[in-house]
Amino acid sequence: MTSPAAARIEQVAAEWLLDILDLPRGSAVGFGTSATACSLTLLTAARDRLLANAGWHVTTRGAFGAPPIRVVVPETVHITILKALRVLGFGAEQLVRVATDTHGRIDPAALPPLDARTLVILQAGEVNTGEFDRFAEIIPLAKAAGAWVHVDGAFGLWARASAHRALTDGLDGADSWTVDGHKWLNTPYDCAMAICRDPEVLARAMNSDTAYAEGSRHAQKNLTLEFSRRARGIPAWAALRTLGRDGVAAMVERHVAQAQWLADRLRGEGFEVLNRVVLNQLVVRGRDDAETAAIRLGAKRDAYFIGHVNSSRIFE
Ligand SMILES: *Cc1c(COP(=O)(O)O)cnc(C)c1O
Repeated sequence: MTSPAAARIEQVAAEWLLDILDLPRGSAVGFGTSATACSLTLLTAARDRLLANAGWHVTTRGAFGAPPIRVVVPETVHITILKALRVLGFGAEQLVRVATDTHGRIDPAALPPLDARTLVILQAGEVNTGEFDRFAEIIPLAKAAGAWVHVDGAFGLWARASAHRALTDGLDGADSWTVDGHKWLNTPYDCAMAICRDPEVLARAMNSDTAYAEGSRHAQKNLTLEFSRRARGIPAWAALRTLGRDGVAAMVERHVAQAQWLADRLRGEGFEVLNRVVLNQLVVRGRDDAETAAIRLGAKRDAYFIGHVNSSRIFE
């Protein structure tokens, strides 16, 4: 993308995004290919920052041999976060997987000790249940200890732009957030956002300046994995421009209402709905495993809507 118009449109989209999600204005917004890629960039920034706090600079010394970082994730962590962590050199056995409550949220009492070399990963919209971690309790604790808090809000972050905003209370205290455009905002695939409270930290982690292509800390090539890239912020701009604040809120609220309606209907037909249905996710079980296996919802109509049929007991 060589036109300055694209860069300007992405800047406007970034401002609108921070506004509608009510996240710290002045945060960096990188428009990446997916929540996976955006979490990778933000978790890189987090790792580099935490190690720099300990006097270890990854840009010069690399990540191998660095002091240990404690990575704290919910038991219900999304597989793509594990993938991003794996790429960054954190293996499954090195993670502290924190027990979750009956709803699938981190139990704050089960958190390990947190310090300035801890990376805490929370969820806004757990993929099976749509649940939100208890940000208002956990984030202040983590921040007071000097930890970095990342929120995976691939679809759930949009609740913040709706009447369901209370689900996200306290989430703005985190250091970084991932959100998809190609889920709830309904943009075409290949549109996600990496939001970082401290623009310098992300711009340093993703810097790709060179003599023939210098950018500022606002340049998308210094906020995302890509060097050459199409302006994937434009679909986000277009969706926000078309829907407006009220349109986004109405869409989210409609989909949540549809999920609740579907849950009621399914209960009425004798199915067991296993989650509280706080958002747009349903976990449904038939009368036995054979019946459960026979029904695969997974519909995607005008809603980004996963009716998640799961034959295993996830809440005991
Ligand atoms: C879908 C999803 C992701 C991954 O998003 P992609 O854009 O497909 O990479 C991560 N976390 C959660 C909670 C998700 O629902």
